[in-house]
Amino acid sequence: MIKVRLFCLLLAGLSPGCLTTSAVENPKLVVTIIVDQMRYDYLERSPDKFANEGFRLLTERGAFMTFARYNYVPTVTGPGHASYLSGSPPSVHGIIGNEWFDKRTGKDLYCCADTNVVAVGTTNKSAMSPRNFIGGTVADQMRLAFDSKVISVSMKDRGAIMPAGKKPKGCFWFETKSGNFITSTYYMTNLPAWVNEFNERKLPANYLGKTWERVLDSSVYQFADAEPGEGKLHGETNSVFNHKINTSTNGFDTVYPTPFGDEILTQFAIAAIDAEELGQGPQPDLLCISYSALDGIGHTFGPYSHEVQDETFRLDRQLEILFHHLDEKVGLANVDIVLTADHGIAPTPEFAKQMGLDAQRWDSGKFMTNLLTKLEQQFGAGKYFATMKIPYGDIFLNHDVLREKGLTTSMIAPVVREFALNTGLFMNCFTREQLLEGRAPGQIGRFYINGYNVERGADLMLVTKPFALAGTNKTGTTHGSPYAYDTRVPILFFGRQFKAGRYSDEFYITDIAATLCAALRIEEPPGSIGKPCLRILADQ
Ligand SMILES: [Zn+2]
Repeated sequence: MIKVRLFCLLLAGLSPGCLTTSAVENPKLVVTIIVDQMRYDYLERSPDKFANEGFRLLTERGAFMTFARYNYVPTVTGPGHASYLSGSPPSVHGIIGNEWFDKRTGKDLYCCADTNVVAVGTTNKSAMSPRNFIGGTVADQMRLAFDSKVISVSMKDRGAIMPAGKKPKGCFWFETKSGNFITSTYYMTNLPAWVNEFNERKLPANYLGKTWERVLDSSVYQFADAEPGEGKLHGETNSVFNHKINTSTNGFDTVYPTPFGDEILTQFAIAAIDAEELGQGPQPDLLCISYSALDGIGHTFGPYSHEVQDETFRLDRQLEILFHHLDEKVGLANVDIVLTADHGIAPTPEFAKQMGLDAQRWDSGKFMTNLLTKLEQQFGAGKYFATMKIPYGDIFLNHDVLREKGLTTSMIAPVVREFALNTGLFMNCFTREQLLEGRAPGQIGRFYINGYNVERGADLMLVTKPFALAGTNKTGTTHGSPYAYDTRVPILFFGRQFKAGRYSDEFYITDIAATLCAALRIEEPPGSIGKPCLRILADQ
């Protein structure tokens, strides 16, 4: 049993009333947890079925921001991880997608790609760093203020790299091919001994061939096990429990998008806490953890599936293991915990349709081909687009061709907008000028303005209608839109710095850094646009 409440009562009892505005002593360790693809409603569906000290430690004994949202597009992993500890939207931090068309090189650029560095702990050449991220995060501010030790871990490279700032002590992510945690020469030239030792344990191998069954009785789960639109795990023939973790030709890529991926990461985070002696020095340290399994499961099965419900229960139990370890090693009374998600997820269009909603799948490749034909009819033959890919509705025009033909974006834009709106798929098409001048209307317009980076942004941004999913897959689902199912996420603050309670205040992802920095009484990251929620701070 964790004795936080008792500690707080003692603290309150010992503090004379006149000292209520004095600083609450800083924690020894701040742990920030970001869950890849977790909607707010996941924490409200069956709260009584959670373990006593997993999510409920935070929802019942922490400050639960119940009306928190992303305030930009695209709502995807790279930008989400770059925003939550920087307090910046993509307009500032420059991470405008997981990857984007790089106008300088004419090629796609992955958000963590960096040709100046090489990978460490693997023979694989692909190397990663936070070089494309502009600014800094709470991790950097904690180093400046306290000389904090910063460690960041995730199953995904971008999940570990983006929150950790520019100079963490360690930043490690899972390589599916080898099943090892690796890093890059941006951070260090050799893996620390404890990471090598962890890799030697070969935990991922234990999960190949394992069965994934429901952790609770099937009567607890809402909806049917096989709803329309659900996909399949690698090597399986149906979408129902029990699932088997099959072997793959690509190492452990069948393990990581299952609850077992989170189990591996919890053990790795525990190894980091112990070996790096986090929270044992005179300064507050920072541990950033990004859990990735829900994202893989949600993409395949959708937010209303038994699989996503089960993974939520299983992640809850992993959090309880982690929190118990923190209590044992550091004492939970000395730990601040922040938990959120990097985005939500749309229902599969097939499930949404079954529920009477106007959902559809659309083929963005076909759309672009038809749009090109339309432009050629109007302006003559030509390669009008710099790329035919529009993962976020982002259209990059070929400005060399436009110049040759004496055309401008303002001549092309009305044709694109009219063509797009005629398809019935879209509700708007913003131009670069509109976004840079702040002329995109309404909340959706504001989300596009916040997501638009002047150096890296596209020429036109298409806004799809709700429940319209791009892609040629017949099953599964995705995220990225400005709509509530993608933008609304839980945000929780736990620790002696925060007043427990449920708060339905207007609160955005970019407010986390401001609130945490106010609690720690330190400078905000340079690009932070957020506001602290004073109501939840214990010393305000
Ligand atoms: Zn995803």
